Amino acid sequence: MTYRWPVFRWRQRETGEGYRHGVDWAVTDRWGGASVEPFGELNLGGRVGDTAEAVETNRHRLARALGLHLSDLRFMRQVHSAAVSLASEEETEPVECDGIVTDRTDVALVVLVADCTPVLLADRTTGVVGAAHAGRVGMMAGVVPATVRRMRALGAEQIEAVVGPSICARCYEVPAEMRDEAADVVPVAASVSWTGTPAIDVAGAVVEQLHAEEVRVRWLPGCSRESPDLYSHRREAPTGRYAGVVRLLPPEGAA
Ligand SMILES: [Zn+2]
Repeated sequence: MTYRWPVFRWRQRETGEGYRHGVDWAVTDRWGGASVEPFGELNLGGRVGDTAEAVETNRHRLARALGLHLSDLRFMRQVHSAAVSLASEEETEPVECDGIVTDRTDVALVVLVADCTPVLLADRTTGVVGAAHAGRVGMMAGVVPATVRRMRALGAEQIEAVVGPSICARCYEVPAEMRDEAADVVPVAASVSWTGTPAIDVAGAVVEQLHAEEVRVRWLPGCSRESPDLYSHRREAPTGRYAGVVRLLPPEGAA
């Protein structure tokens, strides 16, 4: 069942029918928040130059829209790595990582992006979820397969993914050598820009990596650089961050 919420570009709260657990999946857009330009309006990024007050207000709004408290959101200190962390029970300062996993139902995992690819993951049978931040560097470092493997270490077997909107294969123009380096890691990363120059398809490469890990993929449409509803580092800098969010829901009938 799809709901329309003010802070979400897309949300699906899927109950546990046929599965032990349900999952709440969401992607935010840039509207309905307290930030002013160039971060307006719903910037969720804490290290982009926006005021701490505006970011906290926006994060409160996100938590409330999810039916949670701000202290239930788990963020990463994203550094374009392949490091994966386990979401802690208690709220702590985010640790440096670009993948995060949990088997808890009382926290939501948040990945922040502005052109990079947000990847949300879940195994609704065993009850394990994950989120990954994959830009060009993280994709090449293998953060997405690393997150999948960390979920398997927690017991996940049948993993499904939602790949959120990000910069598209036509908009991510790069030098030829950079494209070749990416294509050496995942061949489908090689692309061509709107003007016919070398480009990289980061999201396409991520989807390919997920398929190689036998993960079922739902790929949401949209290009951050071309959509005024999303933040894009390539279109305007400084800018804010939108979010991909995943939360494991308790088993049916549980409190
Ligand atoms: Zn595009």
